[in-house]
Amino acid sequence: MYDVIIIGSGPAGLSAAIYGCRAGLKQLVIERSPLSGGQIMQTYEVDNYPGLPGIAGFDMATKFREHADKLGAQFVTAQVSKIEDQGEKKIVTTDKGTYETKNIILATGAHHAALGVEGEANLLGCGVSYCATCDGAFFKKRTVAVVGGGDVAVEDAIFLARMCEKVYVIHRRDELRAQKVLQEQLFACPNVEMIWDSEVKKINGEGQVESLTILNKKTQEEKELSVSGVFVAVGIIPDTELVKDLVALDESNYVIADETGKTSRRGIFVAGDARKKVLRQVVTAVADGANAITSVQENL
Ligand code: NAP
Repeated sequence: MYDVIIIGSGPAGLSAAIYGCRAGLKQLVIERSPLSGGQIMQTYEVDNYPGLPGIAGFDMATKFREHADKLGAQFVTAQVSKIEDQGEKKIVTTDKGTYETKNIILATGAHHAALGVEGEANLLGCGVSYCATCDGAFFKKRTVAVVGGGDVAVEDAIFLARMCEKVYVIHRRDELRAQKVLQEQLFACPNVEMIWDSEVKKINGEGQVESLTILNKKTQEEKELSVSGVFVAVGIIPDTELVKDLVALDESNYVIADETGKTSRRGIFVAGDARKKVLRQVVTAVADGANAITSVQENL
């Protein structure tokens, strides 16, 4: 029986693996893909992790994984289909076999909701971004668009307006969902232009975003908007389906836990983007992984 099984090998899972090895725990990391790293694998460059300025997401993931390997962490590539809690013992069922463990760290992460339009997938990292905090600096003095009307879209637009020449906010309705205080800040930005009642039909460009095709749903008028980048902020989807009947989730399906990672169920911990928290970044994910191992050690 393992002391801990870590599900997921993004920054939170790999940090937990590193701390678990150093704590001498008998542990296993179950990862969906043999390419560890999670969301940073799709990030062109990470420029806000202390000590590693401008590192490529792929290189950062490789460094984290190599660190875990060097300490002797064990990995299996498998799809987890079920978690059963039998008190002191938890059973993790996968397509590669069944594992028994005293503790589980859920480091399954989250993914950004996509628009699902033509050009979005193939221009990812070439002007299409899901993270203004990560990629905004690459668009200094350029014109960009933000899609969405929630808190994240509005915060992203305010953030981008400080460095970009112009920021369009494209929203499908004539009213924002974001908090009023954020809306006021947004409307006070002189270089922000709202494009209401509109949806992006297509992202255009050869190897780099050049423009968006936009449809005004009220007038049915279609137009092309020249931009160098588009930030998609239409919601985040936590990967917590597996545990929805096992631990308490909030209204947006994030696992409820504080920094200790302790969920509503003893012996099940959460780390990284699947946890309910304010800032979802690599730096907060790795901190969660370390904290979760400390909590596991209290439950051996
Ligand atoms: P959100 O609140 O769910 O907003 C998503 C936005 O995207 C909505 O405006 C929605 O339009 C729009 N949208 C959804 N699907 C779309 C599509 N297919 N095409 C075009 N637009 C689409 O998500 P979020 O902004 O990512 O925020 C997630 C959660 O984090 C929220 O609960 C938010 O309050 C919280 N948060 C809080 C803070 C803060 O307190 N400072 C900061 C960031 C995030 P409709 O409005 O028409 O539905």
